[in-house]
Amino acid sequence: MKVAVVKESAPGERRVALVPETIARLRQAGLEVLVESGAGDGAWFPDSVYIEADASIVSRDDLYSLADVILTVTRPDPGQLARLRDGQAIIGMLSPLTDPALAAELAGQGVTAISLDGMPRMLSRAQSMDALASQASVAGYKAALVAAEAYGRFFPLMITAAGTARPARLLVLGAGVAGLQAIGTARRLGALVTGYDVRPASKGEVESLGATFLELTSVTNAAGEGGYARELTAEERDAQQAELTAHIARQDVVITTAQVPGRKPPLLVTDDAVKQMAAGSVIVDMGASALGGNVAGSRPGETVVTGNGVTIIGAQNLPSTVPTAASNAYSRNVSALLLHMISDGALAIDTSDEIQAGVVITHDGQVVHSAVAKLLEH
Ligand code: NAD
Repeated sequence: MKVAVVKESAPGERRVALVPETIARLRQAGLEVLVESGAGDGAWFPDSVYIEADASIVSRDDLYSLADVILTVTRPDPGQLARLRDGQAIIGMLSPLTDPALAAELAGQGVTAISLDGMPRMLSRAQSMDALASQASVAGYKAALVAAEAYGRFFPLMITAAGTARPARLLVLGAGVAGLQAIGTARRLGALVTGYDVRPASKGEVESLGATFLELTSVTNAAGEGGYARELTAEERDAQQAELTAHIARQDVVITTAQVPGRKPPLLVTDDAVKQMAAGSVIVDMGASALGGNVAGSRPGETVVTGNGVTIIGAQNLPSTVPTAASNAYSRNVSALLLHMISDGALAIDTSDEIQAGVVITHDGQVVHSAVAKLLEH
């Protein structure tokens, strides 16, 4: 079976789906690995290193005509989509729940689509395949660095001959995978860190990183299904925003990471909260999206400075800005999934397997993932 690695096409995307180090494991399983020329350049893996790892470098035309399975990080662009053919499989982060039309198109082309973002994450045997977690972890780390760079003072306590600088007060809203990594990184940089989440289980995790857990009286428990948060009611949301505002006003830096599966990100930092922050404060909104983010006035991929001097950074694709680490982790995730799905040297689709039921979106010309199929009915 021939497994092929495409050069990512999304603007600014520097990750690659498979790094040379992982190729040996696939070769041992009897797979042939083809790599589109230049696919690893953005993550500092030149073609020569793939050749040393026993992969073949091919042109884009050859890749699409020879490959049985195509590995990608993000969704294919229209040009790549047009090249896919009946019977081929594609494995990547295809966001089928936010982009069901892509699934319909792939099914129509007879392509088997496998999406890592459907992984049943609470399953311990799926942990090595959890690309959402590996990429969120990279993003959380980078969010702390982005905040430090934009902040006009030091993060740590600095005692110098020219005087003493107090440490930055930093609040992380949402203490899931990304939030905990942001907390750990900001702590290592010396900031005084507070973490907040609506899932009570996160208190111990925040405190184990040496940060303070912020407890609010307005929302004490909004744990939902599968380790995620549930959406707050309108009353809870208003009370939470009001209570958070008083805390946000005292912070120098705020990093927001809050997400609720299948919903738009909750608004945690209101316009009023931003207005109460001091000039020079920095907010990094990891939830920034076209639908709105965790912070009023944030825009994805843009930095906005408010009239009162608060810098609001709408983070976008942070994993791609740490491309080597993000690709290393993603490559382990994608190859673990691929090896899990192979039997006798070929891809064996079996949706009675819990992992496959989560990740296989289309097969044999049909959308087989029930949640995606349901979205397409409407
Ligand atoms: P996520 O990206 O969906 O959300 C980020 C965080 O935002 C979550 O911690 C959530 O509780 C929080 N949040 C949502 N609404 C909020 C609000 N209104 N106010 C404040 N915070 C809010 O979540 P994630 O980081 O992908 O993972 C969340 C959970 O899943 C964690 O419990 C994590 O440990 C668990 N998880 C488990 C596994 C595993 O067992 N293999 C793998 C990954 C994640």
